[in-house]
Amino acid sequence: MAASDFAIIDRPQQKDLDRCVHCGLCLNACPTYRELGIEMDSPRGRIYQMNQVASGAAKIGGSYIEHIELCLACRGCETACPSGVQYGKLVEAARAEIEEKIPRPWHVRLVRDIVFRGLLPSRTNLRIVGGALWLTQKLGLQALARATGLLNLFGNLGKMEQLAPPAEMPTFFRHYGKVFPAEGARKYRVAMLGGCIANVSFARLNEATVRVLQKNGCEVTIPDEQTCCGALHVHAGIRDQARKQARQNMDAILGAGYDAVITNAAGCGSTLKEYHELFEHDPAYGDKSIQFSKLVKDVNEFLAGIELNLRLGRLERTVTYQDSCHLAHGQKIRAQPRKLLKAIPGLTFKEMPGSDICCGSAGIYNVIHNEMAMGILEKKMASVNRVDPDEIVTANPGCMIQLQAGARMHGKNQPVKHVVELLDEAYRAHRA
Ligand code: SF4
Ligand code: SF4
Repeated sequence: MAASDFAIIDRPQQKDLDRCVHCGLCLNACPTYRELGIEMDSPRGRIYQMNQVASGAAKIGGSYIEHIELCLACRGCETACPSGVQYGKLVEAARAEIEEKIPRPWHVRLVRDIVFRGLLPSRTNLRIVGGALWLTQKLGLQALARATGLLNLFGNLGKMEQLAPPAEMPTFFRHYGKVFPAEGARKYRVAMLGGCIANVSFARLNEATVRVLQKNGCEVTIPDEQTCCGALHVHAGIRDQARKQARQNMDAILGAGYDAVITNAAGCGSTLKEYHELFEHDPAYGDKSIQFSKLVKDVNEFLAGIELNLRLGRLERTVTYQDSCHLAHGQKIRAQPRKLLKAIPGLTFKEMPGSDICCGSAGIYNVIHNEMAMGILEKKMASVNRVDPDEIVTANPGCMIQLQAGARMHGKNQPVKHVVELLDEAYRAHRA
């Protein structure tokens, strides 16, 4: 894509802004509006500001950037909106425009470059950082810092540390390039994406996902040339890098004849299904991105759409389910994870109030806007505590980290699991 195309599609499009009729029906669905009660931190207020910028009535400046960045991009407003406003598309484009037009201070640019360009797409660097994190955990340094409150001496560092994902060794990267055969007759050939941080912090979840797919007649390939999907880049407005990674994924996967491309991360799934929004005017990847997006399936969506292998053992416990925003609002997948959970014998499912309101995770939002994220999390845990589950279940690694911190701080330190992990456990518990 030529550099000149940037300005055409990487800013909110007037046709998308014009869909908003300013009715305000989305306000109560918006976690930042519920938290602050400020119109400019509501979906309607943010769209108003985007319109002001688009018409030239306002410049992209301090307060506009703050309001746009404080949005969780949870897309709860999309579900509430009767006019079909694609708010996720708008806020991502607004962030891309900010990124393009407003130079950040050098030290912020440096950190962003290290994280988004140096770390997330690099298998080697993720392995190095993951190894270092694993070592601090093994040496007990993390536990020591938590017990002594040492990091609280450095401002919010202590609170942020609560959100550091654990490192799991060996990482999932060791499976790249492998093909896992279907158990029994092969019904499907699928490719699985390992993610970026998930390869290190959710290696066991990724392995459980492979096993559950195998149990359900899938031959699972972990394509070696895949990379981070670019979701965190898109949410941060860093679209040139997101496009680079998207091209790599499409080249790695298209043309191999897979029945589906599976992800177990709802945040990644939304972006993967919307690759075509990144390549709207791209002659080389426009059609490919549409083709690719059609192949992408969240693992819940895929499993609930086939004849599920019901050789599941009993799991005697009570669970509640937290909708991941990018699954419920971004991909409209709500019934499928519940259907899978209800298929597990012995499991008691209790619906919590407001299960589809964001938990405050939102990619790396909880690190950058820690105070807001923690306020939202406290309310979420009040909902969880009303149904008092033995375990909290969700469908996105980012939400799992946030909810685990919530269970530690405001709950009973219950385990937080992915739907697939419970299925895996139930398959293992089955006695022929
Ligand atoms: S995406 Fe979420 S936080 Fe952002 S405006 Fe919509 S509801 Fe509010
Ligand atoms: S985004 Fe939708 S619900 Fe919100 S004010 Fe606009 S039209 Fe109404």
